[in-house]
Amino acid sequence: MKPVIGISCGSFHDKAWCPPIFGHRQTYVNAVVDAGGVPLLIPSLEDERVLRVLYDRLDGLLLAGGGDIQPSYYGEQPHERLGNIDPLRDQTEMPLARWAVAEGKPLLGICRGVQVMNVALGGSLYQDIPTQVKTTLEHDESYTREDWTYMAHAIRIEEDSKLASFLGTELMSTNSLHHQAVKAIAPGLRPVAWAPDGIIEGLEGTTEHFLVGVQCHPEALQKHADPRWQALFRAFVKECVAWQHGVLA
Ligand code: MN
Repeated sequence: MKPVIGISCGSFHDKAWCPPIFGHRQTYVNAVVDAGGVPLLIPSLEDERVLRVLYDRLDGLLLAGGGDIQPSYYGEQPHERLGNIDPLRDQTEMPLARWAVAEGKPLLGICRGVQVMNVALGGSLYQDIPTQVKTTLEHDESYTREDWTYMAHAIRIEEDSKLASFLGTELMSTNSLHHQAVKAIAPGLRPVAWAPDGIIEGLEGTTEHFLVGVQCHPEALQKHADPRWQALFRAFVKECVAWQHGVLA
């Protein structure tokens, strides 16, 4: 049985007078399918009991990209350059992340997803990289160039990390489309990848549990631009299969 992998959605507006839409970019869905998983889009839900029913049907959780996170989740006031927030999505993803960590369900965080992982476990974020971090890199350069496959900067990956073992390398170039970044690292997580300016580009759990987050967008690279990223999605799906078997046993 292929594992069911939840992908949490964002809210979008097409026309101001129409109800908003839940959804996410097709590249996330494609990356999960390509790796052998069954994607299930998770809408933002106000009622945690309803959310829990959906969560219980998942064999793994993919927290995907998106806008900024409300700084109240890590005890800060909003910075003047805080970007778009989606309170209902924050409210949905925080319990999802905490449940997955508490129960050992595989969790892959991408971009906003690695930030949600960190905040849900007690860490904090830079609310606005350009004004809060001394750097010459533009961590939204692939976005401003309107090219998801534009390799904006290198990342150095910790030798002794799951990420390095999946990718088979400790140095690669990646895209970069983020406005915020990990600041204080939450208990139970450790940094495993960095941009040349020191910005954290990857976090992992400190246990055997598959808890891996990257700041870049491998789902947009895995098909053509850098197929080495396929190994990350395959490793994630493999862990979801193992989790499924553990539950069924
Ligand atoms: Mn970056």
